[in-house]
Amino acid sequence: MALASKESARREALLYFLFPVSTKTKQSKRPKKKSAALKLVARAALPTRYGRFTIYGFKGRGAQDEAVALVRGNLKGKSVPLVRVHSQCLTGDVLTSLRCDCRAQLELSLKKIGQAASGILLYLPQEGRGIGLMNKLRAYELQDEGMDTVEANETLGFAADARDYDFSAKILKKLGATRIRLLSNNPEKVRQLERSGIRVIERVPCQPRISKISRAYLQTKKRKMGHLLEGI
Ligand SMILES: [Zn+2]
Repeated sequence: MALASKESARREALLYFLFPVSTKTKQSKRPKKKSAALKLVARAALPTRYGRFTIYGFKGRGAQDEAVALVRGNLKGKSVPLVRVHSQCLTGDVLTSLRCDCRAQLELSLKKIGQAASGILLYLPQEGRGIGLMNKLRAYELQDEGMDTVEANETLGFAADARDYDFSAKILKKLGATRIRLLSNNPEKVRQLERSGIRVIERVPCQPRISKISRAYLQTKKRKMGHLLEGI
């Protein structure tokens, strides 16, 4: 009995990680996070197609505060670690959707970090730029009717981007990576990390080759969200 309930709790935890629910809306203020309360849950070896990493599981106080970090090399050594802070995208990362460029960015990041002297891939359960999987699918439905990604999110009552990188900064600090080179096209991500005490000494563009299908989506990200994308 005890074993069965342990197993079902484990399954629930896995499902939660894949399908987080967010209630953040445009109107809601970001809750003030209490300091500390970041727990290292586990650490294990993780050999991947892109090299050998160590995977860390972290948990914070909030329901959304859960993440894994894939670490390579010595983070406290001479080289400044190359870091990607990646928000989960079930449709892209796992189901190979071409509506967005998430999987291509994830693969490019793993490849670059795998080749760097040291680095971290931080993977956060902030599905759909923080609105949750079901709401992201509702936004896709609206996009199929002609809206762009920003209009769709706003029609559903969400901010265009509801993500928060304070928890990411806490994990980076815990790992000893307070000065980083960040793989990102998103200036807001750089700003938020810096505000949370991480020195981004270099922004490394993360722009994989894109499909025709995701071009319109990326044009919206560039035009309406200020993402730095070349040739889009
Ligand atoms: Zn995506």
